[in-house]
Amino acid sequence: MKHLIRECFQGEGYVFATRAAEIARAHGHARPARLASNENPAGPSPEAVRRAVDALGCVNRYPDETNRGFADALRAYHGDYRFVASVGMDGIIETVIRTLINDGDEVVVSTPTYSFYGIAVRAQGGTPVSVARRADWSVDPETFIRACKGRKLAFLCSPNNPTGTVTPVEDIKAILDEIKGILFLDAAYIDFCDEDYRPLMKEYDNLIIGRTMSKAFSLAGLRIGYAFVPTWYEPYYMTAATPFTLNSVSQAAGEGALADPSHTIPIVRNVEVWRGRFAKESPYPVAPSGGNFVLVDVAPATAEEVVEQLAARGVIVRSCTSFPGLGDHYIRVSIGEDWENERFLEEISRL
Ligand SMILES: *Cc1c(COP(=O)(O)O)cnc(C)c1O
Repeated sequence: MKHLIRECFQGEGYVFATRAAEIARAHGHARPARLASNENPAGPSPEAVRRAVDALGCVNRYPDETNRGFADALRAYHGDYRFVASVGMDGIIETVIRTLINDGDEVVVSTPTYSFYGIAVRAQGGTPVSVARRADWSVDPETFIRACKGRKLAFLCSPNNPTGTVTPVEDIKAILDEIKGILFLDAAYIDFCDEDYRPLMKEYDNLIIGRTMSKAFSLAGLRIGYAFVPTWYEPYYMTAATPFTLNSVSQAAGEGALADPSHTIPIVRNVEVWRGRFAKESPYPVAPSGGNFVLVDVAPATAEEVVEQLAARGVIVRSCTSFPGLGDHYIRVSIGEDWENERFLEEISRL
């Protein structure tokens, strides 16, 4: 029956960091340091939990199909912008691709980066086209603009997963000034850095900014993503979207989290402190990062070797070999709880 499956799903899909966890378990680590998935080790805001629990009592009803309450909470938090919401930012990415991409269309992706853009483009029948970043992982606007010529959609992640690189607002403006298609700016980690792309929404009608409640807001398990969209684009997005994407419990939790913004202040502060310590105390080079993770160059060892050795010692980190265009000697280490970060520094120094 396998021949019935579309070719784009015959190969490998999204790569999860499951193998390292299995190695740690096999070595008897019941509670390893979990630094592979850029999760937030802090729990969610109590206000988010309280509202989610209340919402559970009403799940016999379908959620508000327009996500109105959540969009209102977003406007209270960010200001007067247009928003769409979905099942994680991944749901937004899929829907945006669905609105624009026909069979055979090429989509620009600034690499190395998050692998899901390419996976979702292929699933829609499109073809991802990589534009390489510079050696220091910064984006060269001219190269990027050239790649966008004649193409409808481009993905750029900032702070970039897995390199941590922050692209300055001026470079994004330079790109938006020149391209004729739409730029999807993935700002999943924006809360951990000082850059602010939101004002660009007032100036450009070809920009979509993707955001998530999974990282700084500690709600990864509830799958809440949203995007700033141009006003003209919103109805097309709504036409293409799967009905009732965000469930009522997630909507309520998202509203609660946005009503308690100070909850993220110590979380962000802690990330800043540990990014600095990782950079200073790691025996291997650490790339400057604006996210809640760092990219570590473990050459001459390979990422797979280091991930296995660390896992055997109870520290789970992410090998970056599955990120297209990155090579085989980088690991990505999330900033976790203090004891987890300490364990990582101890064990990486002992390799
Ligand atoms: C985590 C992440 C997302 C999406 O997260 P969701 O949990 O689906 O909201 C999107 N882009 C990047 C770069 C990420 O790292």
